[in-house]
Amino acid sequence: MSELPPTECFIDGRWVATKQRFRVTDPFDNETIAEVSDADDKTIDDGIAAMSRIAPVWRATPAPARGTLLRAMATAMIADEQRLARICTRENGKALPDSLAEVRYAASFLSWFAGEAERIYGETIPASRAETRIVITREPVGPCALITPWNFPYAMLTRKLGAALAAGCPVIAKPASQTPLSALALAQLAERAGVPAGVVNVVPSHDAKRVGDRFLASRAIRKISFTGSTKVGIGLAKAGADDLKRMSLELGGNAPLVVLGDADLDLAVAQAMIAKFRNAGQSCVAANRFILERSIATSFTEKMIGEVGKLVVGRGLDEGVTIGPLIDDAAVKKVRTLVEDAVKKGALMMHGSLDAIRGRLVPPMVLAGITSEMELWREEIFGPVVAIRVADSEADALAMANDTEHGLVAYVFAREHARQQRFAEGLESGMVGVNEGLVSAAQAPFGGVKHSGLGREGSRHGIEDYTNLKYVATRV
Ligand code: NAP
Repeated sequence: MSELPPTECFIDGRWVATKQRFRVTDPFDNETIAEVSDADDKTIDDGIAAMSRIAPVWRATPAPARGTLLRAMATAMIADEQRLARICTRENGKALPDSLAEVRYAASFLSWFAGEAERIYGETIPASRAETRIVITREPVGPCALITPWNFPYAMLTRKLGAALAAGCPVIAKPASQTPLSALALAQLAERAGVPAGVVNVVPSHDAKRVGDRFLASRAIRKISFTGSTKVGIGLAKAGADDLKRMSLELGGNAPLVVLGDADLDLAVAQAMIAKFRNAGQSCVAANRFILERSIATSFTEKMIGEVGKLVVGRGLDEGVTIGPLIDDAAVKKVRTLVEDAVKKGALMMHGSLDAIRGRLVPPMVLAGITSEMELWREEIFGPVVAIRVADSEADALAMANDTEHGLVAYVFAREHARQQRFAEGLESGMVGVNEGLVSAAQAPFGGVKHSGLGREGSRHGIEDYTNLKYVATRV
């Protein structure tokens, strides 16, 4: 079996070559990994037509049978996890253990939604009149377009595709131009698992706006599920309003990680390392702003620096590497600009240095003395930089944590139960980790408030986004 999946578009069960191709490169050295077909308008339209044809068949397929196919995909994913992880590391750059963890996490959404397919329950409601029956069912919304980012190329797709297929919706997916091979590998798994032609279509492209506009212009597409930046998400929501398209938006974060005075510092540091450095910090749930209560600020910072010193930066495929390259030059430039701005405004470099950056390899840095005037207080750093600010009280820490237009996830570390509870309730975010640095799980609702998005993915709630309620009143 070849290491890489086919490099054509996957339309109506066939691999379709187009005239234009675009290069997919290794973020470590810019070497070309593959040249992938760039979906032209006709190919996209063929994918949409295939979905329209199969939609009534797929929704009529018994839900347990849809679940069986998803389970077969999950099993195939795990059986092939080493190859899939290597594909991810090659096109995304992340350290191989991070890729392997992602493959397993991605497969867990397929398994979870395989089960949920069997539990798309309706309701009966007692009516006010004796001769009336009120019955509610859940129906698939119809063909869905899925747009995904490069930072978790498998998981961001299976989190949508699993829910859509379980609910009875066919999909057309546009993966990020930097990481289309992971999505094509998933299409190959769907093909091998026997998912009917037309249910899964993949249209890689280097021209995201054109593809997005094509999706928006199609009346056949009833829903767009997007994961990516807040700017693009808001643009899609505005453009989709004309056709009242259903929108699920998983957008940017700016997660606070708060350590209160009574926290278990060893636990807090261990969890903070996961929350900050997974995927080299290129995660929407990455801890972006460390807020430390004054009494433990020095000891937490010293312990954290001790752990940061153990990280190994290098090529993602190499043994022992824990932090791979950032995705591209623009990402490195962004980190550099944010750190320079912070240092210019008075932040102290406690560990690491901008001078140590080599190409796209960015060694971890720890900055203290952060203030709300610094750009990295407002912006996602998306790199291995710890930015520390000190709070004088619990109330002060909470105000700082909520001082952002985003609200995806927040982390808080404290021993006292009442404090944990009070703080979690005060946080303006869709998800909270209490003494926990990794909240993502297939059975839990993932999503944000404020400018972090609309809707939830994963859990039983994730499937609701792909269904419409139908109410039937019957006179008996
Ligand atoms: P992005 O630029 O918004 O891209 C995301 C996806 O949208 C890519 O497939 C991209 O294609 C496509 N796209 C770009 N412009 C488009 C347009 N006008 N119409 C339709 N599609 C368009 O985001 P990014 O910077 O690559 O990804 C990082 C962002 O995603 C961060 O803000 C991160 O926090 C967020 N994120 C959120 C979650 C979550 O669950 N909340 C999860 C992961 C990441 P191209 O690749 O071809 O540009």
